[in-house]
Amino acid sequence: MATCHVLRLPMSFFDRAITGQLVSRVTNDTEAVKMLYVQVLFVMLDSVIVLAGAMVAMLWLDWRLMLIVATLVPAVVLIVMLYQRLSAPAVTRTRELRSELNAQLAESIAGMAVLQAGNATERFGKRFAGINEAHYHSRQRELRANAWLLRPVLDLLNVILLAVVIFVFGMRGNGAALSALEVGVLYAFISYISRVVEPLIQITMQFSQLQQAMVGAARVHVLLKETETPVAAEHGRVTEGAIAIEHLDFAYRPGQPVLHDLDLHIAPGSFHGIVGHTGSGKSTLLSLLLRFYPAPAGAIRIDGTPVEAIGEDHFRDSVGLVPQEPFLLAASARENIAMGRQLSDAQVEAAARAANAHDFIMGLERGYDTPLGEGGARLSVGQKQLLAIARALAGEPRILFLDEATSHIDSETEQVVQRALAALRGKVTIVAIAHRLSTIRDADRIVVLNHGRMAERGTHPELMAIDDGLYQRLYLLQQLEEEGAG
Ligand code: ATP
Ligand code: MG
Repeated sequence: MATCHVLRLPMSFFDRAITGQLVSRVTNDTEAVKMLYVQVLFVMLDSVIVLAGAMVAMLWLDWRLMLIVATLVPAVVLIVMLYQRLSAPAVTRTRELRSELNAQLAESIAGMAVLQAGNATERFGKRFAGINEAHYHSRQRELRANAWLLRPVLDLLNVILLAVVIFVFGMRGNGAALSALEVGVLYAFISYISRVVEPLIQITMQFSQLQQAMVGAARVHVLLKETETPVAAEHGRVTEGAIAIEHLDFAYRPGQPVLHDLDLHIAPGSFHGIVGHTGSGKSTLLSLLLRFYPAPAGAIRIDGTPVEAIGEDHFRDSVGLVPQEPFLLAASARENIAMGRQLSDAQVEAAARAANAHDFIMGLERGYDTPLGEGGARLSVGQKQLLAIARALAGEPRILFLDEATSHIDSETEQVVQRALAALRGKVTIVAIAHRLSTIRDADRIVVLNHGRMAERGTHPELMAIDDGLYQRLYLLQQLEEEGAG
């Protein structure tokens, strides 16, 4: 349940989430809660029944002696309260540290190349060891509380109680020899006392698990409280792929506006390029178009319908994204294109052909079934990018967004991507953010953003004609750079 919930959280949640901690909550903490149901409750119920049975039997034999034995119950309640007092902080701390360990590990593994290249493995190793040490001590504190308070204290009470019962028996006889009947009762009591103490020990022992489960549940609850992306009503449809943006303002945090009063109309099947300096709001605009963040109501319409009124499944099927960093699964090329959708081999191949990815996939030793390794480790960045385009196209979207899909690839591969995009013109609405202006040179219209405002718009020749315009300067600068590099 927690996993499904995490998959439906809005993108803004993942801006602050730390992967390892999240994984820890979804795995370890839910596991602790599970123990409550498979073990704790079962053992407790079992023990309570045995306890009640023994008490009734003792009541039957001798109610006064039974009252002495019954003093155990409040004593145990006190011990458990004390135990909770002492162990709760340690248990909470241990769980926090464990999730911190997971977070560190996940982060280090993800950034291994940077760590090793930056000779930072030792520093990170030390940091990890520090948290590990703290975890060890915290866990020790927990275990010490268990070791002192649970079994040993109750064992002690057991012995004290035995002594008291024998003593009371002895006083009653007043020195005279016990009758056979009385010896029988004494014997029965001595054996009943252990029958009472054992379930009490079992119950108190469960409190350590219960403590884990409660702390785990509190942590899972924090996660479950995060509101999921609201599922929009189903009536809106994407038919043509026309996008209308009107008076769009947006801020991630109140008082820090990122986009100002944007107006943009994108005709179905057209190819739009978005350029601008770093931080000018290009990716933000795309995130809003993709509904990763909620745009002001009605500011963005697709085919006349406000984006927020389009059903989630239909919206995601109709809108494809090729991100800057292609994300590949550790699976085959086919699975990477299908992404869990029920696609026939022909559909997968058609998408790969449309993305110009078919040829290189056929060049792999097992074609579409070649495992690509984690993160597509065995492909070049350009190949990953083509695969990401194939994946986006496999859903037969009406609209395709590209966020700097050509930033990391060489000019030759860029041309392959450009050809793939050119072949899609007229069929799919394309909005491409590009640092490399050559990618969007042929776009129907280029929009230049500057500090969240639209500075210029037009075709490449139109923008180049603006003297000392932003686009012209960007373009000339890039040409100089490329010549320098060449
Ligand atoms: P680049 O070319 O470097 O990718 P960009 O034009 O895509 O830049 P954005 O990523 O849209 O720029 O960022 C625009 C502004 O919004 C920046 O000032 C950035 O700090 C801020 N910003 C971006 N993402 C977030 C976020 N998730 N939370 C808060 N602020 C953000
Ligand atoms: Mg960006």
